[in-house]
Amino acid sequence: MRKSVTQLYIVPTPIGNLEDITLRALRILKEVDFILAEDTRTSGNLLKHYGIEKKLVPHHLFNEHKTIENILERLRGGATCALVSDAGTPAISDPGYLLVRSCIEAELQVECLPGPTAFVPALVNSGIASDHFVFEGFLPHKKGRHTRLTALAMEEKTMIFYESPHRLVKALTQFTEYFGEDRHACVSRELTKIFEENIRGSLKELIAYFNQKTVKGEIVIIIAGKT
Ligand code: SAM
Repeated sequence: MRKSVTQLYIVPTPIGNLEDITLRALRILKEVDFILAEDTRTSGNLLKHYGIEKKLVPHHLFNEHKTIENILERLRGGATCALVSDAGTPAISDPGYLLVRSCIEAELQVECLPGPTAFVPALVNSGIASDHFVFEGFLPHKKGRHTRLTALAMEEKTMIFYESPHRLVKALTQFTEYFGEDRHACVSRELTKIFEENIRGSLKELIAYFNQKTVKGEIVIIIAGKT
């Protein structure tokens, strides 16, 4: 095992199934001086599950601008830290980008461990072309949504969206206006959890399927590019 000079580790955590954490992630979480967590309660429960006792420091969208200088100071002083989010890989539709960029600017060593993220299993499960894709994450709710979707109407690569369950049918319906109701797509729900499902079909078929039930859980939508 190589000796590392990394000061900030970005540590992916499970998106549902608690077995989905790497041996290295567990070791790093044990070894660092402190852990920055999006939600200290959620991450506290996770650490408890793995038998790790470590100080958790809140680091989320609402305090990251204020706390970064203090974190950089500690890292410059020789401390090491890990950043975790509630689920998956930090900085992927989660806080992290600002801290990574600030550390790089401060010439501190950053290392992101490979690990869970929701869009990769969703993309692969979809059976839709995975050689080229664009990750859109959450679309803006109001301002900028129409502009983004208009640009995506011409997109030839597979598109990946994160969406909340209560907005799923509305989003799929809106997608038909820009991509056409026959466009092939897949909705992955509750990946890695007991009620995981991957529903594949045209946008029209997916709307019919999800209209029949109350949609719960976490959702990734994969849409084929324009042919
Ligand atoms: N950092 C995370 C990642 O690496 O995927 C994403 C965090 S973002 C705040 C949360 C969104 O990710 C959810 O609304 C959903 O779209 C997606 N997501 C997370 N876990 C999921 C799961 N188990 N199944 C399906 N989608 C999931």
